[in-house]
Amino acid sequence: MRFHLLGSAAGKPVPRTFCRCRVCLHALEQGGPDLRTRTGMNLFLDGDSSREPKYRIDLPPDTGHHMMAHRFNLNLLEHLLFTHSHEDHFDLLYLRHRGRLMSDRAEMPWLNIYGSAETKGEFDTWNLNLDDLRLRYHQVEPFQSFSVDEMEVFAIKGNHAPGTLHYVIRHAGKSVLLAWDTGWYEDETWEALKGLKLDAVFMECTQFGGPEEIRHSSHCNFYTLRMMRERLLEMDVILGDTPYVTVHMGDNGLLLHSERVDLAEPHNITVGYDGLELGV
Ligand SMILES: [Zn+2]
Ligand SMILES: [Zn+2]
Repeated sequence: MRFHLLGSAAGKPVPRTFCRCRVCLHALEQGGPDLRTRTGMNLFLDGDSSREPKYRIDLPPDTGHHMMAHRFNLNLLEHLLFTHSHEDHFDLLYLRHRGRLMSDRAEMPWLNIYGSAETKGEFDTWNLNLDDLRLRYHQVEPFQSFSVDEMEVFAIKGNHAPGTLHYVIRHAGKSVLLAWDTGWYEDETWEALKGLKLDAVFMECTQFGGPEEIRHSSHCNFYTLRMMRERLLEMDVILGDTPYVTVHMGDNGLLLHSERVDLAEPHNITVGYDGLELGV
């Protein structure tokens, strides 16, 4: 599998509108990995070297920018998993626009959408015409395994807004955990992870830096992320060299990308950035 991380910011992109902090100013001046857009990811199976995804996680408001920056289209997209319905992950205007294509709409594949009951509640408020837009919503329960075409997916609970799901994506003997947004996992989630073997983890670190204290809900600081990794190591779910990549980072913590790398590298943690690709 190949994971293309398109956006690595939390709800506030970098540069943040109206902000003049050192992180935002540095990003504007230097560009590169300090520029961050909101979290979304394309996913490709082995042997698929295209840029056009069939699988995707979340639909942030920066999706149009991602298409321009990374030169891909979504016209072949068939499966979209939503973690939750907060606005930085869930911009359904893009789905509404499927009804106004200038190209042949008969060529547009049906788009299967996966998410929790709570996410469906928000989805329904958009009153989209599912048949016209060729959309199908598949409601997923926490701790349920389900097939997404050639992949198997196991949903677990994030400790964030009600109905937040994280996904263990399984294909060709590999498993990867996509874990945003969340604070420290609740017991039932740790229990569900027991016995799994993960080949990579993408985990949120909204507050990069912060005090050496566990954050028990909503979001991770760097210490919480480290302790979650330690717990997964103790449980033999990951190994010391299993790729562990941070996502969903904004300007919180006031650290530049290079400073985050200095902080994370000694712990075998990779700091994600817009455009990062990981093959597993
Ligand atoms: Zn978020
Ligand atoms: Zn959120």
